[in-house]
Amino acid sequence: MAETIKSTSPLPHAEHPRFPWTLIPRDVAYILDKALAGEDLSVDEGERLFQLEGPALHALIWTADELRRRTVGDVVTYVINRNINFTNVCIKRCGFCAFSRGHREEEGYFLPMEEVVRRAREAWDLGATEVCIQAGLPPQMKGDYYIELTRAIKAEVPEIHIHAFSPEEVLYGATRAGCSIKDYLIALREAGLGSLPGTSAEILDDAIRERISPGRITTDQWIEVITTAHELGIPSTATIMYGHVETPRHRAAHIALLREIQQATGGFTEFVPLSFVHEEAPMYRKRLVPGVRPGPTGAEVLKMYAISRLMLNRWIPNLQVSWVKEGPRFAQVCLNAGCNDFGGTLINESISTAAGASHGQMMLPRTIRRLIRDIGRVPAERTTTYTIRRHFPPFEDNHYDPLDRISEEEGEARFGSYTKLIHHPDYRYRQWKHLVVMPRRGRQGTKSQHMD
Ligand code: SF4
Repeated sequence: MAETIKSTSPLPHAEHPRFPWTLIPRDVAYILDKALAGEDLSVDEGERLFQLEGPALHALIWTADELRRRTVGDVVTYVINRNINFTNVCIKRCGFCAFSRGHREEEGYFLPMEEVVRRAREAWDLGATEVCIQAGLPPQMKGDYYIELTRAIKAEVPEIHIHAFSPEEVLYGATRAGCSIKDYLIALREAGLGSLPGTSAEILDDAIRERISPGRITTDQWIEVITTAHELGIPSTATIMYGHVETPRHRAAHIALLREIQQATGGFTEFVPLSFVHEEAPMYRKRLVPGVRPGPTGAEVLKMYAISRLMLNRWIPNLQVSWVKEGPRFAQVCLNAGCNDFGGTLINESISTAAGASHGQMMLPRTIRRLIRDIGRVPAERTTTYTIRRHFPPFEDNHYDPLDRISEEEGEARFGSYTKLIHHPDYRYRQWKHLVVMPRRGRQGTKSQHMD
């Protein structure tokens, strides 16, 4: 017969408070109340929240979830998209980047324009509405290469949204073309660019940038590219990469800076916190940067999402969890800490995979919907700029996107993978570099500060 285990506590609530509010410090309760009242938090207050643990951490997560519910409801959005990282050859050596290769390295690859266009067409035929294009910075690049690439994709797939070129790439393109950032962005927009990824932000603090990626785009340059794009009607995402050498103060200041930009331009579509993936990152593996940490802990990740919700709620209501960085199961947990967007299907993911992330390169729309429903929320497919394309019921549906008919295993065989790409004999950089490199005669007068 089964033994009955008796509780030593006479009543469930006699010794344990039913609600943790009485256990949290008064200053924290004040900050959480302030956020719930719709007021903006200061950098000091954001920094304070990064120190929380125990019941106060639970209260923070509850507050973020409540603000999310009040502001954007229970819908969790996602986009059907494809990443195309057309080359890993780069003139820079960012300490966190395991993706880039030198132009003489055997593993340097390059996808010719025809192949990028073919991949965009294939994605569109499978139901994707967006291609996300980012790559290394090839040495001596033709200044108009990004513009020509955008034009070629639009000629083949006019309706696809091109979400492409980080501020670092825009600056490189403009420098190589010998024109202003504004003129370069106008040319990209006219070629069909829809929006910019707000990557290459990491931590917008030059002292940190100098430690983890010397020579990278500066904070002022990043702000210039982003605000100019917004003024021209080109929206962008906003990002942070954290869990390396920065402090809670840097994180809070970074979020506040993004809020300030948004107050001025209104051009950010969403905020995407990105954990530092350390496994293959040179600055961690080779111990190049003293004090570098192996990415954020789970508690830090939760705090980052929750505090982002509290600090940005009124200004950037869309907060995206990264399933590539956090994995599908922890991404579900993060959806309960203030997030309302699950990102994209990706189809091909290279940058986090190169750094050691192990959560796959593609997630099917049906899988995304299942994960969302599993936590009691309602899935919806969106465009890049957050127009809802399709609402789904809160329970199981019979909808299959063309992409859903390909299993994740078949996906790797059909779409390729990062590992295959860096070894594929057809895509060696040296074989194709004449397509992207400025001919010798044309090099004069376009000398770039980024050239190696
Ligand atoms: S992060 Fe970008 S700019 Fe830096 S090394 Fe990697 S590919 Fe190059």
